Amino acid sequence: MTNKRPPTALEKMGLNSPMALALHLPSRYEDETELFTIEEALGLGQFNAIQTQGVVIRSQVLFRPRRQLLVTIEDDTGALGLRFLNFYPSQQKQMAVGSHIRVRGEVRDGFLGAEMVHPIVRAVTADAPLSASLTPVYPASAGLSQTIIRKAVLKALQDPSLKESLAEFLPASLTSEILPTQDWPPLQEAIAYLHQPPADANTQSLLERTHPAWRRVQFEELLAQQISLKRAHAIRRERRAPCFKKLVAICNDEKNNDEASAPTSIEEGLLKVLPFELTGAQTRVWREIGDDLSNTFPMNRLLQGDVGSGKTVIAALAAARAIDHGYQAAIMAPTEILAEQHYLKMQEWFEPLGVKVAWLSGSLKAKEKRLAQEMIENGVAQLIIGTHALIQDKVSFSRLGLAVIDEQHRFGVRQRLEIQQRVGSELFYCHQLMMSATPIPRTLAMTYYADLDVSVIDELPPGRKPITTKVVKAARRDEVIGGLHAWLAKGLQAYWVCPLIEESEVLQLQTAVESFEQLTQALPHFKVGLVHGRLKSEEKAAVMASFKTNEIQLLVATTVIEVGVDVPNAALMVIEHAERFGYAQIHQLRGRVGRGSADSVCILMYAEPLSMAAKERLQTLRETTDGFVIAERDLSLRGPGELLGAKQSGDAMLRFVDLQRDAWLIELAQTAADRLLSEHADLVGRHLERWLGSRTEFLKA
Ligand code: ADP
Ligand code: MG
Repeated sequence: MTNKRPPTALEKMGLNSPMALALHLPSRYEDETELFTIEEALGLGQFNAIQTQGVVIRSQVLFRPRRQLLVTIEDDTGALGLRFLNFYPSQQKQMAVGSHIRVRGEVRDGFLGAEMVHPIVRAVTADAPLSASLTPVYPASAGLSQTIIRKAVLKALQDPSLKESLAEFLPASLTSEILPTQDWPPLQEAIAYLHQPPADANTQSLLERTHPAWRRVQFEELLAQQISLKRAHAIRRERRAPCFKKLVAICNDEKNNDEASAPTSIEEGLLKVLPFELTGAQTRVWREIGDDLSNTFPMNRLLQGDVGSGKTVIAALAAARAIDHGYQAAIMAPTEILAEQHYLKMQEWFEPLGVKVAWLSGSLKAKEKRLAQEMIENGVAQLIIGTHALIQDKVSFSRLGLAVIDEQHRFGVRQRLEIQQRVGSELFYCHQLMMSATPIPRTLAMTYYADLDVSVIDELPPGRKPITTKVVKAARRDEVIGGLHAWLAKGLQAYWVCPLIEESEVLQLQTAVESFEQLTQALPHFKVGLVHGRLKSEEKAAVMASFKTNEIQLLVATTVIEVGVDVPNAALMVIEHAERFGYAQIHQLRGRVGRGSADSVCILMYAEPLSMAAKERLQTLRETTDGFVIAERDLSLRGPGELLGAKQSGDAMLRFVDLQRDAWLIELAQTAADRLLSEHADLVGRHLERWLGSRTEFLKA
């Protein structure tokens, strides 16, 4: 048995060393450096917390409307009420009539005149000295008081070890040339300043984190990040990955390939079975990816292209290349439905070419799962499609050469690292291709994704029609159904998407069934189908097949059709309770229409009342179908964390830098990182250790 004491509240927050405490910087400050008379406080304290003092002349406990303590203090200039809704006997004693107290808070007009509610109270004599510096307020957790953190930080700042660990070691030649101003203090000074800014400090810039002391800290943090990204970049180039050059036909000496000759490779075979020609953009990105695959170090590339731009076929081509070389390829998607769509498509494309396609998802029966795992392990399966199940315990690949991660931002950094560790050989890393419809904003591309190459499909396949989007109140449902009738009467098809109910899958299903029944009744001349997540795969496939062949004219669906469905004759989509969907979801859904020759329409039906955010979202969606604009809006709403898949990897986030606010610092840090690496390589490790400690691993993903 070990005899460990339980961690203290400080340790639980990771504040377990002088360095950790020193870098635990205040989130704001309280100003206890000034003292005002009560008369002044009454005027100034309406908007700001303010400090004043006086003698208690009255103290009483009221019981109505609820138990509370009312205290009145007085000085030569006036009187001020203090109100406490929760209080301890000790506080009552501290504020007994006749005692002198100093209080800090905001002044408001109460029932009985000007008062402070729950001010900070200290019992001190009238001439007690004022604090010389601003009082820091630290990020804290429940059960950890500011007093405890302040004491711990003060103690840590005195710790002799800090002299060493915060010492300035960036060469003056570097800082003087690269930093835009010489006003930024050295790190140790900056940190001391931020913990205890003097009374006359510029509080605005401290709060906004634009003060020179903050700038210095932010610069150093970004520098550490840039260095580790550049390192990751170099490390990747030293790693080995199988080289997948394009296979060339052995007797391919004539320029014009004989149409009748058998394809020489699966890659060529695939290009032949595709029912379409690659667009210019697809050809270009495939060349970029093909070049990466023929390198001897692992590819780390993002394929970005709007919904419907045709990313899947590029993934298939890359897979074909790997399989041509005797390796396995895997495609991982974040949801079962998306993965299944890929599976169906890949079967259609690859099985005629004699490639064994395997399917692995969490919902498989134990026996089927074991079978799939076996085929993956012994190499029978050449192309493997699945969900997160691909990176769960029991899967090990025989020879994984390529991993494709669709909708990469919906996976965490950890999971992206995970699939690289499944290659089955310790000598090799697999190539990684990530795909996303969401563009990466420049600031993110320069920081977290600095070791990621990006290819963009900036052209939709031919024949796509612009989509008209209408926003309609749910109260006009009957009118919408009337319009739907007219639409179907023209021989066209349509989707009716039922609302997302995040709290309950059962409820979601129920509303879908209700809409299905109502629409079946309202449209007796047409066949209405229903598809939802609870259907078995075969059932789902059967409904989708009937919709494809126009046996079903109206498809009522839950969000299962978000992805992968492709029926050109269905050019109308009604989305119920559109206010419950996010930007990306509607954008994805809407991408299902606009693929045929008919003009396409998307109707966003909403129930009132609309929140401001929902209103803005629907408006934006009505005005634009541009994935880039929509992604930008989405990002400004959610922040970069979600794009990074950082929910699972909060550790990897920058602590003191805000990418939007501090974007201009990134380039500075990039330059500094380059110089440090080339001119002072010996200092690099020390800088990383200071800033990242154990967190460097994440930045390699
Ligand atoms: P996404 O980029 O959203 O994953 P998909 O790969 O699902 O898009 O492609 C959308 C649709 O466009 C699919 O039906 C696909 O078969 C079709 N498609 C892809 N490339 C082309 C092309 N070059 N010409 C015509 N249709 C294409
Ligand atoms: Mg896709």
